[in-house]
Amino acid sequence: MAQSQLLGPAEIRELAAELDVTPTKKLGQNFLHDPNTVRMIVAAAELEPDDVVVEVGPGLGSLTLGLVDTVSRVAALEIDPRLAGRLPRTVAERAPEFADRLAVINTDALQARRADLAAVGAEPTALVANLPYNVSVPVLLHLLAELPSIRRVLVMVQKEVADRLAATPGSKVYGVPSVKAAFYGDVSRAGTIGKNVFWPAPNIESGLVRIDVTSGHPRDLRDAVFPLVDAAFAQRRKTLRSTLAPLYGSAADAEEALRAAGIDPGLRGEKLTVDDFVRLGEARRGA
Ligand code: SAM
Repeated sequence: MAQSQLLGPAEIRELAAELDVTPTKKLGQNFLHDPNTVRMIVAAAELEPDDVVVEVGPGLGSLTLGLVDTVSRVAALEIDPRLAGRLPRTVAERAPEFADRLAVINTDALQARRADLAAVGAEPTALVANLPYNVSVPVLLHLLAELPSIRRVLVMVQKEVADRLAATPGSKVYGVPSVKAAFYGDVSRAGTIGKNVFWPAPNIESGLVRIDVTSGHPRDLRDAVFPLVDAAFAQRRKTLRSTLAPLYGSAADAEEALRAAGIDPGLRGEKLTVDDFVRLGEARRGA
């Protein structure tokens, strides 16, 4: 089976020079220049040949090339028009047999809609990306909400963000991203990536996060659950009775709702599992 010719350090620099691209922090532009890391990320995603992948921020194409020879379709969302414009040619040059599997959409992933992907014939089953660091969590949560067909996520983010996403109740870094990610499925760490596989090298290490999307929590509960999560963590040191008071009208009403859901009103938000938040949300929606 043919494989793409992946990009190494020399190719990355050549492409950047050709496009006159100086990587910017603002767009989180750190390009992978290590084929082994690309293969490792693709393997960690455990994709099937019929998977349809949405990739955010394909950049110069390092990861895209590792995906097009593995799955049936890749829809790549890239905000930088120079990078979006060059990508189809890079894939045609380095993976000619698979070039027709790629669709590039020059857009801000935070604004991407399901219809934009449908327009290029993609109903994504997986999200695989080396996410732009400054918007990694919002992009991840936006696409999980917008694309309910996604069953698997494998993303690279800053290591501390990976820790936060995969944290469980009681951990110091457990917070809003942990609960919201867990609303969609089982979240786990899938490895740590050093700095030197990127050009330019970032200041901190990166981590891989995997989400196996489950059908556990009905999506239509999201709008009832997420405001509770935001409120519960807005003041980490306060008890739920007081952080949730504004949502319920008063501390007494919040206490009653918490007790009805079997939750001690004297706890802090950091002790609640996603299931606790979902129970509260269900009751609130039904009220
Ligand atoms: N996937 C490439 C790789 O691994 O070498 C590049 C990853 S780099 C960390 C992030 C990429 O996301 C850049 O190409 C950047 O231009 C793009 N980007 C930044 N913000 C974006 C946004 N809001 N929507 C889509 N792409 C974005």
